[in-house]
Amino acid sequence: MAKKAARATKMIYYFGKTKTEGDSQHKQLLGGKGANLAEMTSIGLPVPPGFTITTAVCDLYYKNKRKLPAGLIDGVHKNIKLLEKELGRKFGDNKTPLLVSVRSGAAISMPGMMNTILNLGLNDQSVVGLANATGQKRFAYDAYRRLINMYGDVVCGVDHEYFEHAFDKIKRKYKAAEDTDVPLEGMVELCEAYKQVFKKHFGKPFPQDPFKQLALAVEAVFRSWMQSRAVKYRQVENITGLLGTAVNVQAMVFGNMGDDSGTGVAFTRNPSTGQNKFYGEFLVNAQGEDVVAGIRTPRPVEKMAKWNNQVYQQLLKIKNKLEKHYRDVQDIEFTIEKGKLFMLQTRTGKRTGAAAVKIACDMVKEKLITEKQALLRIPAGDLTQLLLPSFSPAAKSKAKKESRLLTVGLPASPGAAVGKLAFTAAEAVQRTLAGEKVLLVRKETNPEDIDGMHSAAGILTSTGGMTSHAAVVARGWGRCCVAGAGEIQINEKGRRIQVAGKTFTRQDVLSIDGSTGEVMAGEIATQSPKLSGDFSKIMSWSDKYRKMLVRTNADTPADAKRARDFGAQGIGLCRTEHMFFEGERILAMREMILAETEEKRKAALKTLLPLQRKDFIGIFTAMKGLPVTIRLLDPPLHEFLPHEEKSQAEMASRLGVKRSVVKSRVSALHEMNPMLGHRGCRLAVTYPEILDMQVTAIAEAVIACKRKKIDAQAEIMIPLVGAAAELALLGDQVRQVIDAVKTAKKYAGKLKILVGTMIEIPRAALTADQVGAHADFFSFGTNDLTQMTFGYSRDDINSFLPDYLRKEILPRDPFQTLDVEGVGQLVAMGVEKGRSAKKGLKCGICGEHGGDPDSIQFCHQVGLDYVSCSPFRVPIARLAAAQAALNHGR
Ligand code: PEP
Ligand code: MG
Repeated sequence: MAKKAARATKMIYYFGKTKTEGDSQHKQLLGGKGANLAEMTSIGLPVPPGFTITTAVCDLYYKNKRKLPAGLIDGVHKNIKLLEKELGRKFGDNKTPLLVSVRSGAAISMPGMMNTILNLGLNDQSVVGLANATGQKRFAYDAYRRLINMYGDVVCGVDHEYFEHAFDKIKRKYKAAEDTDVPLEGMVELCEAYKQVFKKHFGKPFPQDPFKQLALAVEAVFRSWMQSRAVKYRQVENITGLLGTAVNVQAMVFGNMGDDSGTGVAFTRNPSTGQNKFYGEFLVNAQGEDVVAGIRTPRPVEKMAKWNNQVYQQLLKIKNKLEKHYRDVQDIEFTIEKGKLFMLQTRTGKRTGAAAVKIACDMVKEKLITEKQALLRIPAGDLTQLLLPSFSPAAKSKAKKESRLLTVGLPASPGAAVGKLAFTAAEAVQRTLAGEKVLLVRKETNPEDIDGMHSAAGILTSTGGMTSHAAVVARGWGRCCVAGAGEIQINEKGRRIQVAGKTFTRQDVLSIDGSTGEVMAGEIATQSPKLSGDFSKIMSWSDKYRKMLVRTNADTPADAKRARDFGAQGIGLCRTEHMFFEGERILAMREMILAETEEKRKAALKTLLPLQRKDFIGIFTAMKGLPVTIRLLDPPLHEFLPHEEKSQAEMASRLGVKRSVVKSRVSALHEMNPMLGHRGCRLAVTYPEILDMQVTAIAEAVIACKRKKIDAQAEIMIPLVGAAAELALLGDQVRQVIDAVKTAKKYAGKLKILVGTMIEIPRAALTADQVGAHADFFSFGTNDLTQMTFGYSRDDINSFLPDYLRKEILPRDPFQTLDVEGVGQLVAMGVEKGRSAKKGLKCGICGEHGGDPDSIQFCHQVGLDYVSCSPFRVPIARLAAAQAALNHGR
């Protein structure tokens, strides 16, 4: 049945003058590269013809226990025949041979993670044909040796080093310093030597039948879908739900046929800043891989005009046509073969957050897209990059005066990074895990380094251009990167670098500026960013479309102010415990906890009351006119206790008791599972006087503000409720205290202080109709709710989470992105049941998920009134909330 279905579905899509079967709508099936090759062909751009084997075939390959499905190879033969006819060349021919490239291409681009084979179709016969047809014998044999090497390495698993050894031997024989110095005879000999290497290490001779070459190459591309670096990349990038990779078989064009040939990559606009200026690089007499791999440092694309103005002008026209057609920035690859331009790829250009914002705004101005499209274009999480620190100009100029500027490389990905030097990806991962900040320093990076690049604070390379692997990947992540800093000599084995006559080792700190390319010795102070006019435009468009409010989690007036500047519409969570740690306060707090009688406890609380009141006045003032949700004390008391001998002794003398008394009280308060122990509202049940003090401080602060005409809007939140009766009891107590304060302060005005609860225990969600009857609002504490729904300790999850992600037991870290399937059900149920008890009950979220774009989509869908997140994530939340409204309506 399955086989029949496979035969019935179309496995191969042709593109060329003869016919073009796919288009850019077919991304899932043809992969991004295949779909766009077809699209470019149909809009009349010069694309070498070829065909795409679908991602569904890759899926079948794996379902078939890694066997190509029946009928595929027949289809490949038919399509090669079409190609031969269209081009008037023949596969494997000894006169005018057809050569093809075989490239991977999934629906979502995974740069450099899968396999490519070039020059396929060359054999002992056709190499002669290629030499005759082009009149370039050396070139033909160079192409042949590249094929044997690439094919051996990628398809047959023969280590690249064996080929290198053979090449070194030939170079020595011909006294050639560079590969390009080897003469024709050397190249012919090299092909023979490579065939020997191939046979010796693979056990069979290099296949002379081009169709056999092709079938095995197709399979190798499919295999590369599951190779570890590709799997890792998908994990890091959260790429799921794809069928596999497509395989693109395309007629070869050569950028290495002499000085009238070349190859390049470019972005239709600057991907780093967003500036509307053609931006890219090219190399004369080179193959595409040479640019991407960063082996030779290429020239800026505008220099092309001098080299071949006609081709440059044609390329500019194509650039404009592509942007108009796709209405987005394109990342293109092109090759010039003997003065003739060919387009080899176009795809949506990856860009930094800053570029995304500028491009979106510019394209609205240019009437290429609408405001709504602009908002949906910007990955909300990437806004963080705009909020990234940069080096403080004063600190930087001081460093320069002190001659600490070592060199300037290419500004590959903006931001400022400071760290010690790590020389391998593994080292970067290990030292980061151990708590160090490191910069990954490499000659050039390759896809194997993905892990290390991801964990490092910044990336520094000594070769490669703006489109090298390091640059592209770092920009995608918003990781600071300086590339191509050619003056740096890296000694990986000796774990040191030399630059500007100085040596730096793994213990030395460097500072790199990804926006200017500067590399500086020592640590340079960083500063917060300034936001552009385009940024505020995006924010105001977001505010126009979003339905949810965005609040912030803040515990100090300074944080509250920062968040307000970022557009926060109130505080969704003020964690009062954070106010108890500073200076004298912790001592008063300890006194309160250690007190053995209510009297003593009340006396200690008296010291804390004015401090709390002052804090609240500060916060209400910073947030005037906006709601401030204050959560009553939440963590287990013992978190505040002195655990070390010295602080126990200090406490004992303050209280006038023996140290043993303090020690025994500390151990009496010890709990086996403190997160499930005496914390949250349970504290207020057993020590009502703590609640009294906190509510008194809040109510007095509100009255003090009102008297100063400051509109303080307090909301009191009771944490960790699991039973409606807890809220009923404590809610009453809160209201009584408020009334008492009003009387004591002789305040006759209205004092509207809401009393609500957090929903962070599954039972509270399950019984939200009962809980809701006593609440003025709900705020979902999804940190604890996730912890208690999964039964994973939120503080210890890292001991097993990496394995869970690797084995795909979990798709994402549930503490970062809300688990919609499980925890999400409780949230949805909580909202629904809560509102069934109280119509229109105000519901929000204050767990970390409140700042995560995917989780925000969900919050919108279940009808929350607001999300609350850390100050720096407020802009992200504003945009994500708008995207949710545009995507899902409401
Ligand atoms: C929560 O549990 O989601 C929450 C916001 O509270 P905390 O993180 O302080 O436990
Ligand atoms: Mg909590």
